[in-house]
Amino acid sequence: MASYFNDEHRMLRDMVREFAKNEVEPIADELDQNERFPSELVDQMGDLGLMGIPYPEDYGGAGMDTVAYALAVEELTKACSSTAITMAAHTSLGTFPIYQFGTEEQKQKYLPKMTSGEWLGAFGLTEPQAGSDASGTKTTAVPDGDEWIVNGAKMFMTNGGHAGVIVFTAVTDPDAENVGKGISCFIVEADTPGLVIGTKEKKMGWRASDTHQVFFEDMRLPKENLLGKLNHGYVQFMETLDGGRISVAAMGLGLAEAAFEASKKYVNEREAFGRKIKKFQGVSFPLADMKTKIEAARHLTFNAAQLKDEGKDFKLEAGMAKLYTSELATWAANQAVQTHGGYGYIKDFPVERYFRDAKILEIGEGTSEIQRLVIAREVLKDS
Ligand SMILES: Cc1cc2nc3c(=O)[nH]c(=O)nc-3n(C[C@H](O)[C@H](O)[C@H](O)COP(=O)(O)OP(=O)(O)OC[C@H]3O[C@@H](n4cnc5c(N)ncnc54)[C@H](O)[C@@H]3O)c2cc1C
Repeated sequence: MASYFNDEHRMLRDMVREFAKNEVEPIADELDQNERFPSELVDQMGDLGLMGIPYPEDYGGAGMDTVAYALAVEELTKACSSTAITMAAHTSLGTFPIYQFGTEEQKQKYLPKMTSGEWLGAFGLTEPQAGSDASGTKTTAVPDGDEWIVNGAKMFMTNGGHAGVIVFTAVTDPDAENVGKGISCFIVEADTPGLVIGTKEKKMGWRASDTHQVFFEDMRLPKENLLGKLNHGYVQFMETLDGGRISVAAMGLGLAEAAFEASKKYVNEREAFGRKIKKFQGVSFPLADMKTKIEAARHLTFNAAQLKDEGKDFKLEAGMAKLYTSELATWAANQAVQTHGGYGYIKDFPVERYFRDAKILEIGEGTSEIQRLVIAREVLKDS
């Protein structure tokens, strides 16, 4: 693993590991059971510089890279997936588009507030009729003098109810031949009239993360809130999702590791038929498989992150990392519950939470089917 990480990465990883162990893990069950958004942890992460890890210091970020960011996401996920996704959605989905596509004025205006954690970021792509097929966006933005008038609805917006700023897509050219080409990106601040935050979704996992439907009702935005080029929003958001897939990969890795560690501890304590259950191959072999797959997942994840940091094409690698680690997390969490027997099914052990938190990794930021589609397209494009 030496080639992915330098001393700065290791220092950050140790600091996040310490924070996760001391501040996040002790309240993870309570957050989950009460579906309580971890505001105090967001503040603490802001103070520690974790809300803008891959962004330049000029914009208030930590001036680090994607590898550092993925390490932090991995460590947070080991303790609490809800906290990890709050930070990850903010960083790679909410903040990235402004950093990557924004004007200098937009960056100066929004990034310092976001990288400090004062304003959480959120990302609005999915709609009731447009999920995997994001080109089916129905939200519209119609020019009116110096403003846009926006109408529509977004589904499942992570951080939606706590966001200071939301980036979202809307159709700006309904007559475009390919509807993906008639979509643009916009920035909206939370207190904008016409921005209506719907009720919080009740979820199987990630229960402390803040997921909302969001409505735009004759919402007026100044012209300068267009983000990036007019009618280029679809491509911009697809590029954003490529990076977001590294976040999900890091979460899958962290969750699989947590499932492995919990299982390792349990098989050393639990006895059956007069011996520790680790003595049964039926119990120990899944642990061998978990460890092997975790190492493979680590390489896939940090290879994709490193390629991104080197400015190389990483679409294929991010897709493979996301697909592999999310399916690994679901399998490993399931295996961990099995290893714990009946105790894995009750809330006294964290594996029950891991099991519920894992599934969404195969759905969010492109389902496993969509990852296979992206990967197949990439590997077959020259053939
Ligand atoms: C907790 C949570 C948080 C989320 N956070 C955000 C967020 O912050 N911002 C945001 O914009 N979205 C967010 N999402 C939305 C998420 O990205 C979508 O749910 C996901 O992309 C799938 O879209 P869908 O739910 O509409 O499913 P659909 O697109 O309707 O898919 C249904 C099924 O059909 C399959 N399918 C669809 N098309 C194909 C195809 N071409 N080939 C093969 N299979 C196909 C899918 O894989 C899936 O199995 C979140 C979702 C959840 C549950």
